Amino acid sequence: MSAVGSLPSSVVVRDVGPRDGLQPEAPVAVEDRVRLIEALVVAGVTHIEAVAFVSPKAVPAMAGAAEVLAAVGRPPGVTLAALVPNVKGAELALSAGVDELTAIASASETYNQRNVKMSIAETEQVIASICAVAGTVPVDAVISCSFGSPYEGEIAPAEVGALVDRLRSAGCAAITLADTTGMATPRRIDDVLSVTGSNVGLHLHDTRGTALVNAYAAMERGVTRFDTSVGGLGGSPFAHGATGNLATEELVAVLDDLGIETGIDVEGLVAAARLVSELVGRPVPSRVAVAGPRSRLAVADH
Ligand code: MG
Repeated sequence: MSAVGSLPSSVVVRDVGPRDGLQPEAPVAVEDRVRLIEALVVAGVTHIEAVAFVSPKAVPAMAGAAEVLAAVGRPPGVTLAALVPNVKGAELALSAGVDELTAIASASETYNQRNVKMSIAETEQVIASICAVAGTVPVDAVISCSFGSPYEGEIAPAEVGALVDRLRSAGCAAITLADTTGMATPRRIDDVLSVTGSNVGLHLHDTRGTALVNAYAAMERGVTRFDTSVGGLGGSPFAHGATGNLATEELVAVLDDLGIETGIDVEGLVAAARLVSELVGRPVPSRVAVAGPRSRLAVADH
């Protein structure tokens, strides 16, 4: 039990910074991406979305995915995931020895069209094919716009729930609901989770300042998996204004205070956030990276 009775005793945090955070940035050298992943591992992060196997022409920042995986130190117990858009990407990721594949669908038809130029139904077929080649490597389907779409507005929770069910039937081992454009609120979290159940991950964005309160609401509902990005980097090039993944150190600082185990050292995350700031050449949005965690000040009595 955590310090607060209705919350889980432990939570798994998947840091997506090396992929989701760096993808929209100017390309960072392979060796620096390796340094970032290793800094996260040193901080105790055991689940990292490390790379994407996508066209280097379309996404120059993700070129060299196999090189990153080959160079990174991988202690036992660390899961490295790769985002893959199709079977070809999945095959490349599998031959590079990745531990998990992430595939993206959208609950929003228009967003799906703009993002991958396919219908949701066509994307479901692609994900089924990825699951077929993945064998024993788990596939996590991340559903963007699960809490609203910049194009269609509200997405009915029943539609999200039906997509979750179809993706599980297609062979996905895990499902993650993404709030791509920061439209989630605790009320929407409650509405969607009441349909999908709590055996989902959440990928939250802080676009409107609701990411942490959404995480709290989700934990009250029993959710124990979260995607976050060191430094709060990342956004979507197809969703105007949708910058800012929930920062890993902002979530972990609050979880620490609540007595919820993550195995992650928040000061190690602050160091990794400093590195990511250096790599992108500007301050990161994370406030805990700037101010330090509360625990830093609360050590001494009085
Ligand atoms: Mg994101």
